[in-house]
Amino acid sequence: MPQKQITWDLSQLVESISPDAVLKKLDLMTAEAEKIREKYHGKIQSLDAKALLKLLESRDAFTLKTDGTVRYCRLMYAADSTDKKAKQLNDASRRASAKADQALAFINVELGKLIASKPSLIKNRVLKEYRHYLERILRKAPHMLTETEERLIIAKDKNGINAWEILQSDWLSTRAFMITIKGKKKTLPYEQMTGLYQDADRGVRRRANQTVYEGLGKDDIVWASALRAVCEDHMQMCELRKYSTPMAQSVIDNDVDQKAIDSLMRTILKNVDLYRRYLKLKARLMGLAKLANYDLTAPLPNRPEKAYAWNEARKQVLEAYNGFDSEVGGWIREMYQKRHIDGEVRRGKTSGAFCAPWLAGKSAYVLQSFNGKLGDVFTQAHELGHAIHDYLATRAQNPTNCDYGSCIAETGSIFGELLLTESLLSKAKTNEEKQVILAQILDGFGMTAFQVSARTFFEQSMYEAIKQGRFLDGETVAKLWVAARNKIYGDAVEWLDVMIWEWTMKPHYYMANYRFYNYPYVFAKLFVYALYRLYKEQGRRFVPKMKRLLAAGASKPPQQLAKELGFNIADEKFWQKGMAQAEEFIDMLEKTL
Ligand SMILES: [Zn+2]
Repeated sequence: MPQKQITWDLSQLVESISPDAVLKKLDLMTAEAEKIREKYHGKIQSLDAKALLKLLESRDAFTLKTDGTVRYCRLMYAADSTDKKAKQLNDASRRASAKADQALAFINVELGKLIASKPSLIKNRVLKEYRHYLERILRKAPHMLTETEERLIIAKDKNGINAWEILQSDWLSTRAFMITIKGKKKTLPYEQMTGLYQDADRGVRRRANQTVYEGLGKDDIVWASALRAVCEDHMQMCELRKYSTPMAQSVIDNDVDQKAIDSLMRTILKNVDLYRRYLKLKARLMGLAKLANYDLTAPLPNRPEKAYAWNEARKQVLEAYNGFDSEVGGWIREMYQKRHIDGEVRRGKTSGAFCAPWLAGKSAYVLQSFNGKLGDVFTQAHELGHAIHDYLATRAQNPTNCDYGSCIAETGSIFGELLLTESLLSKAKTNEEKQVILAQILDGFGMTAFQVSARTFFEQSMYEAIKQGRFLDGETVAKLWVAARNKIYGDAVEWLDVMIWEWTMKPHYYMANYRFYNYPYVFAKLFVYALYRLYKEQGRRFVPKMKRLLAAGASKPPQQLAKELGFNIADEKFWQKGMAQAEEFIDMLEKTL
């Protein structure tokens, strides 16, 4: 097959692909941002509803006009970081975006003041397209400091607290680890070592984990210092910004409320036995008495590893979405036909997978490295689910409302994975085939719903420990980690001793000003599993409801989206519905044994 079919065509994003023309567009972009600034800086406080609408619309028009060019540069670079032209354009677009962001940063600050002093504006009909956006601004307003203070914090953080994150990332990317594979000694970088965690050879998986975490644990003094500083800095900022708890800021940023998150986390704890039941089944499938930590997401041994050609993957993904809805299926077909997907494996391409929206084109672009494994087919369905979210939201919403928060950003993608799961299961002929598909989806569910929850419990316990006046040295942090881990796993899994250092490699713990990164993933997984359950109960009647939910983008908070489907996300019953879907998969797996 010609490779052309599986590389993307980015030329659609811009009027001209000539680098000079693109650079010129970027210059125009900064100039235009400056124009908006000149017109409105210092004046937002005196705007009435109509004038405010005009400002918000002009910012959206600016986004629509510039999005394609910025995307083009970023995606070119993601596709090949070794390409000089791509690097140059990416650098230029980053600089231009930073300048434009700085020029327009005053809008949210001044809007916060305006809305706080005239909250009635939110209810003004003229502004109804921006209602929820303004509600979110109002919710953040009491926690903002003065413009001078905010700027000072940004300036000091750049070389202060933010440096820990850079240090941690540099440490990981510059280490070399020694490991023996098939009798040969090898020295590998961190990225390649983590690739071995999925190796079919159990011994390799064990040695890879042992080597990496032993190495990380040796520098526990560095990691503990970093975490202490990041956590204490956060507590200090919470005090200055008047957040009532360490989690409060993240709950506001994610457009949810604490009650819903508490109910979610309680549901997780009440269902740990369900997860442990799956882990026991997986152990049986692997011929083990008990899983070790390095088996949690390992492939099932002795199963025929089916290889998927690109066209076969495309067929399966398309059928899964088409079975849900023909309009959605049509958009998926368009993604392939218009070459909005880059699946080729090549040097210089960014690792992992993502979907980037293309606002002006009311479409999206997807990147992945397609190796023909079942997991790659799932990744393709996942990323294309993001694309469907973008197709629907960009048709119904202004660009401001297309910036979804973390809790709902994964709604289309996880739903797509579930559509693929059931479509593949319905075609599977043997129990072995079914086991491979079910293990694929349940491994993912277990990691995201349960293991990620342990990380949230861990983060909470660090703040509690600090409040109690405990000093967080490496050993203490490791104890908190193990306690949080045990809440989920009990004795269902055998952990290597060195896994007490697992917390050291999670980059998000070192990101200052970005706390409690984890629970939105748990939220998203169970949210979508619950929706999927509803789909199975209601059948075709559910299809337009799901499309409306995705089309709402960020124009409504998650609790409102759920309410329109008859759910209360502060009620554990809702989350339990998601668990029921996972349980059905586990039951299916049990029947294959
Ligand atoms: Zn995703």
